Amino acid sequence: MGKEVKNPGKTQQKTMLNSNRVLTFTLEFSPSLKFSAKTHIEFRPRSLHSSIMNSASRSSPREAQVNDTACGGSVTLEEWQGWGCVSPVPAMVNEVIHDLKLLENNIDAHMVFGGNGGKFQGDFKIQEDKKHRAKYQSLGDSDKKFQFFSARQIACRLLGSRGYLCQKCWLPMEDCMCSKVRPCSLWRGVKFWLYMHPKDFLRQNNTGKLLWQVFGVQAATLCLYGISEDEEIMWNAFKDAGKGKVWCLYPNQNIVPKTVQDAFSCQSSVDLECTHSLTNRDRALNFVLIDGTWSNSAAMFRRLKEQAKFLWGEEDLPCISLAAGASLMHKLRPQPSWDRTCTAAAAIGVLAELQLLPECSSYGLDKQAEAVEDALVVLLEALTARRLRMGRSITRKIRHSRDIC
Ligand SMILES: [Zn+2]
Repeated sequence: MGKEVKNPGKTQQKTMLNSNRVLTFTLEFSPSLKFSAKTHIEFRPRSLHSSIMNSASRSSPREAQVNDTACGGSVTLEEWQGWGCVSPVPAMVNEVIHDLKLLENNIDAHMVFGGNGGKFQGDFKIQEDKKHRAKYQSLGDSDKKFQFFSARQIACRLLGSRGYLCQKCWLPMEDCMCSKVRPCSLWRGVKFWLYMHPKDFLRQNNTGKLLWQVFGVQAATLCLYGISEDEEIMWNAFKDAGKGKVWCLYPNQNIVPKTVQDAFSCQSSVDLECTHSLTNRDRALNFVLIDGTWSNSAAMFRRLKEQAKFLWGEEDLPCISLAAGASLMHKLRPQPSWDRTCTAAAAIGVLAELQLLPECSSYGLDKQAEAVEDALVVLLEALTARRLRMGRSITRKIRHSRDIC
């Protein structure tokens, strides 16, 4: 038997922010249903919150900074890791940058970026479009094509953001929020992996980045989808950790989803050594958070499963869902969709649900969840301030909307 729940019946409710609330976070301990704690993450009505997070403010077109850098526009290790990456500079990213630079010289048109970075404009766009399509076609196997696709996305985002975005918070420098983020140590029994789609790399409204801003890059590590240098680091870590220590937060529709409680509580586990495995300090529990839109996440999950099969010989990748996940989304929106919850909120949910397990109650996971919540509030405020400064309505309906991610 595990320990008794502390303070049964206690309802702890914490309300974030007064004037500009982002989310209300309720942890309920039910006396009748031992351990059936619920975590509600209630988003405020969509109009304000979502429209800000949907659309990062656009900026004027700008030229890529490739000529002023010491190494002809290539990414140095210092720059690469400055953006939050932990891997060596991906060879293919620098290859793409090299090719872009050559093209710029050959056609005598400057690389000009617009929108949220990463999108070419003008003559260069037309020429580059033809060029990269031809290159894509010339690549033989599909994995090479895919890796080129990822590297190109990342190279473009990087060139479009260089000298414009703060490397740490990914906001335009004049809106840098770094001084307001409170770092916090994550319990060493937990490690997050942000498995991020290239399209989400350097997005102002991405919330996955908050995790390493708060916890540091060793506790919350970025892994870019399709970047072999990154994926290798992540899978080597999983190999060391062992399959029982790797969980993907994903609503797997084929099987009954496991909650944090199902997976880790001694009360529901037949594994008598579960306490040991949970709190074994040498080997942390690895949680993979898929940081991409719902439509992209299916392909990302498929790749994770393929790599799991390659490593462990089984396609089954252990998944967990947040206890409040489905009902939360169902309640708020007509159709549940993953991209409508944000990555930072998913991490908050994992930490909050782990905190409810008696064997995890003494690691301060509630405080760690709170630190992410605070960072989320800071991000929302920074995005709101930016929109207001740029003269954009914060309640404007956004077409082609994309939620926080
Ligand atoms: Zn910053």
